[in-house]
Amino acid sequence: MIDHSKAIKQGNLVEVRNLKKYFPVQKGYLEQILAGRVDYVRAVDGVSFDIRQGEAFGLAGESGSGKSTIGRLVIGLDTPTEGQVTFDGIDLSTQSSEEMRRLRRRMQVIFQDPMASLNPRMTLGEAVSQGLKIHFAELANQHREMVMRVFDRVGLTPAQYFYNKYPHQISGGQRQRVVIARALITQPDLVLADEPIAMADVSVRALLLDLMVQLKKELNLTYLFITHDLATAKYICDRIGILYLGRMAEVGDLPEVYSTPLHPYTRALMAAVPVPDPHERRTTLMPEGEIPNPINPPSGCRFHPRCPYAQAICSQEEPVLRELRPEHQVACHFAEQFLE
Ligand code: SF4
Repeated sequence: MIDHSKAIKQGNLVEVRNLKKYFPVQKGYLEQILAGRVDYVRAVDGVSFDIRQGEAFGLAGESGSGKSTIGRLVIGLDTPTEGQVTFDGIDLSTQSSEEMRRLRRRMQVIFQDPMASLNPRMTLGEAVSQGLKIHFAELANQHREMVMRVFDRVGLTPAQYFYNKYPHQISGGQRQRVVIARALITQPDLVLADEPIAMADVSVRALLLDLMVQLKKELNLTYLFITHDLATAKYICDRIGILYLGRMAEVGDLPEVYSTPLHPYTRALMAAVPVPDPHERRTTLMPEGEIPNPINPPSGCRFHPRCPYAQAICSQEEPVLRELRPEHQVACHFAEQFLE
């Protein structure tokens, strides 16, 4: 049998320090000669945060904020340009490919598009047992039973019915449950959930989130939950980091950040979340324009071209993350104005 015990220290499961990821911009040969330099997209540009054992840590921001790139770096699917990711005390940059392969059993992914991440020629049983073949080959005679158990756990019942089906023969919500089952089959400690319900029907989104909350409790999972939708993050996350153009704008306990958002960007994102009461007034201005080009980000505070509160210093000095309230950090020169 598999040993279910998890030898994880209390405290941080993941520590991310000054993480950077730059992608070279593809140019034509002549263009490159004329430019005389290589330009880089600074997708992630000096981000630090911790993920505590057993929590759901959310990363939120607009498209282009760098959240998915950070997710891939945290679970070792990509290597950083600079900085460090530590998982359960292990610096990922020191691991050989064989060591990374073993470590991957403990770090699994739920991507947003289940159809794209399931092989249409594999039955659901075969797809989910792939991880067992890699990480628990010695238990081959138990694989079928293990897949059945995980199907039961994610609500694919009767498990026997689903085992021999193909992805196109089930609904979108059921496919996402298969993807969750595939992530759980190796008994991971950390699950990266990258917009896991973004492609699901509205009618099943709450059910999938409920399932993820329940699995987190039952299996003592730790989530890195990536989303552009603050309403979804509120449902599942214990703490949240708000990203803007590859930098952390604000990070803290979720109820604290939601009750007292201290960064103008967070306040604008929250103003965009629909509320059920039509009489509730919104006083925060939405930022104008689009997220700037990450090849050449604005000087000083990267949010200053869109910020309704910007002053002269904002285009000159980059604000650093500082703790203004317990368990609540913000990178803004003028965040004090939002303290209650
Ligand atoms: Fe706005 Fe200035 Fe704060 Fe940046 S530092 S968010 S530009 S007020």
